[in-house]
Amino acid sequence: MEPTDDTSPHHETPTFGDPDLPQEGEVNTVDDPAATVMTGPQNPVIESQFPNQMDAPATDISTQQFFWSSFNISPRRVQRGGWARELTQPDFGISEEIAGVNMYLEAGGIRELHWHQTAEWAMMTRGHCRITTLSRNGLPSVDDVEEGDLWYFPPGLPHSLQGLGPDGAEFVLAFDDGAQSESNTLLLTDWFAHTPPEVLAKNFGVAQEVFSDIPLHNLWIFPGDVPGPLDADRAAAGVQPGGEAVIFRLSRSTPVYENSGGSIRIADSTNYPASKTVAAGLVTIEPGAMRELHWHPNADEWQYWLKGQGRMTVFNTGPHANTTDFRAGDVGVVKRNLGHYVENTGSETAVVLETFRSDHYEEVSLANWLSHLPPSLVSAHLGIPEEVLATFPRGTQGITPLR
Ligand code: MN
Ligand code: MN
Repeated sequence: MEPTDDTSPHHETPTFGDPDLPQEGEVNTVDDPAATVMTGPQNPVIESQFPNQMDAPATDISTQQFFWSSFNISPRRVQRGGWARELTQPDFGISEEIAGVNMYLEAGGIRELHWHQTAEWAMMTRGHCRITTLSRNGLPSVDDVEEGDLWYFPPGLPHSLQGLGPDGAEFVLAFDDGAQSESNTLLLTDWFAHTPPEVLAKNFGVAQEVFSDIPLHNLWIFPGDVPGPLDADRAAAGVQPGGEAVIFRLSRSTPVYENSGGSIRIADSTNYPASKTVAAGLVTIEPGAMRELHWHPNADEWQYWLKGQGRMTVFNTGPHANTTDFRAGDVGVVKRNLGHYVENTGSETAVVLETFRSDHYEEVSLANWLSHLPPSLVSAHLGIPEEVLATFPRGTQGITPLR
């Protein structure tokens, strides 16, 4: 590039990334503040939720596909017994690999017996729930789950969910296909209502009249009595000991990474063999700490914010880099291989659930990579002296420790 003369308004402006022209990002407007004025219609309530988008870091550049959404903006399907709201790919375009559902069942409330085309992974976020399944080998299971517990149903596995006392159950579902909807399931009552009565009679070896009072419209979610003791339901269902575990108690597992800045617990098929298509991380980040710079080579990250608040910048080719704010109830998606960090910007511990459509969890830590290279090579790229590089972390930290 030819040297520019002194009439260039951006002559003194520092540059970031590739020398693409025109330069983008607010860093280029330091001598031209009028360039950032916004005079059109504005929604101050929404703007107040996105300080890092309204006044982006100077290093942000260009735009990319939206990676923020929220169950807080998703309409609820409410019935007697509970409710659900969801974010499918039609709602949230980037969410190609995972569709998310947030559901509540009151105590006794039943999500009716059903099955579907995709796998269902779930984490309990509040209360207690009883789940029933029948495995592909014909083995039944009945389990009670509570906050921090997971379940996994492969495609086609029949199941039910029922809220327990005292407060019912709230949970998040991750289907391993962004197109799957909680309103797109195969329901027991629908099949009964749409099968000739003489076929039902022949199938079950009873008179047709047995089916004269079945519901003609599906139940989906409906109220019920709080079930009795687990052991009694297990005995009634014929549960045998020794089957493959359907559930996994993630929040009670040993963290893979833990330090003063937070922790990461991981559940994938290596420690939770049932979960064949979804891997997950449960992350806590203390105020001021940060999920370190990293990426995931094997799957998109679908994240659900459970507590607290933070910001995330997604680094893409181009370069494109955009920063957005997240709060409890929000959902983020990072496409595979795109660089990102998650920083706690609040005053309470942030808790973020990460799910991936894969049988195993994978990440590449930037710090781990740079600490496993000849220091002279890294120094040649970044202009940072080797003796300073030697003070960088020597491996994967997961979370940056508090200083
Ligand atoms: Mn289901
Ligand atoms: Mn990540």
